[in-house]
Amino acid sequence: MAKRDYYEVLGVEKSASQSEIKKAYRKLAMKYHPDKNKDNKEAEEKFKEASEAYEVLSDEQKRQRYDQYGHAGMEGAFGGHGFTWDDFSHASDFSDLFGGDGLGGIFESIFGGSFGGGRRRSSRQANRGEDLQISLSLTLEEIATGVEKKIKIGVKDTCDVCNGTGSEDGDVKTCSQCHGSGRVMQMTRSLFGQMQTAVVCPTCHGEGKIIKNRCKKCHGEGRIQKSKTIKVNIPAGIQEGQYIRLRGLGNIGRRGGSAGDVLVHIKEKEHDIFQRQDADLVCEFPISFSQAALGTEIECPTLQGKVKIKIPAGTQSGKVFRLRSQGLPHVNSAYKGDLYVKVIVITPTKLSSKERKLLEELSQFDAAKKLHPGKGFFSKLKNFFV
Ligand SMILES: [Zn+2]
Ligand SMILES: [Zn+2]
Repeated sequence: MAKRDYYEVLGVEKSASQSEIKKAYRKLAMKYHPDKNKDNKEAEEKFKEASEAYEVLSDEQKRQRYDQYGHAGMEGAFGGHGFTWDDFSHASDFSDLFGGDGLGGIFESIFGGSFGGGRRRSSRQANRGEDLQISLSLTLEEIATGVEKKIKIGVKDTCDVCNGTGSEDGDVKTCSQCHGSGRVMQMTRSLFGQMQTAVVCPTCHGEGKIIKNRCKKCHGEGRIQKSKTIKVNIPAGIQEGQYIRLRGLGNIGRRGGSAGDVLVHIKEKEHDIFQRQDADLVCEFPISFSQAALGTEIECPTLQGKVKIKIPAGTQSGKVFRLRSQGLPHVNSAYKGDLYVKVIVITPTKLSSKERKLLEELSQFDAAKKLHPGKGFFSKLKNFFV
């Protein structure tokens, strides 16, 4: 079925003002409201269609784009998946229609999740345990290859005394008032007369169950603190600030609720030699004046061992040598970064008498070299040494 024009859906002119649009939507929302159309699939669709139209036309920017490009301009407007109730941002503007609870109340209780996808929650998920945040420090060597780490964590796990039921003797009854849903319908008065909204069940406080004798060990929670060792696979190339989510390894929920996740936040340990710049590594390598002047070969450390670098005669302090693919891998890619080695010519501070004598001899040639100050000194330096 072709998508209907938003103005047509709301029954307004293209030139309609915001207040006309709002009024038109209110009228339709009342007409197709689930309270008046129980189990009426068509009304449900009409309600949703009107809400989508309102979501677009009530927003001047979206409306303009729609006016210009039609439905094609709206592709991607709702996260690329088309309009769902999760995209509806005006529930609070019509709290008399949607209930004080916002979207949650009306859609969970009345539509039972047949509307938007994201709002479906079973009671097991409603009891979901908390996520745990831990941080993990890694060396660059570990990051270079990837590593499997075992971490000891404190986590809430099923109580072994009551087996997670929270009851000492297994006497757990489904709450008779809410029949286990944890919510009850309440009649409230609204602009349109009587209306039903869902509220937390006062008998079981939303738990859906009544426990006669609470387990003494866990005080009826069904879970206790335990220590657990978990395994984390760290992919090569991971960076500080990234995290790994381990699904279902966090705190278990109260009384049989599903478990939360563990989020492992990555930190980098400072390396003695290397500094990291994304996938590249940078280090400084000291050489002597005579090595720089005469040329030499140095053995530079890398994360995988040592590599020889030829330093040509006449190398200036600060010159950078690039060693391809001696950096870190990118996550999920075969491509590796480079290692940049900056050579620094070291001026000796303690001289033996022999060294002093040789340098004094050498200094006799300095007068002929005519060193001048100026901008871009290093770039012109070769002109000074003849
Ligand atoms: Zn227990
Ligand atoms: Zn109840």
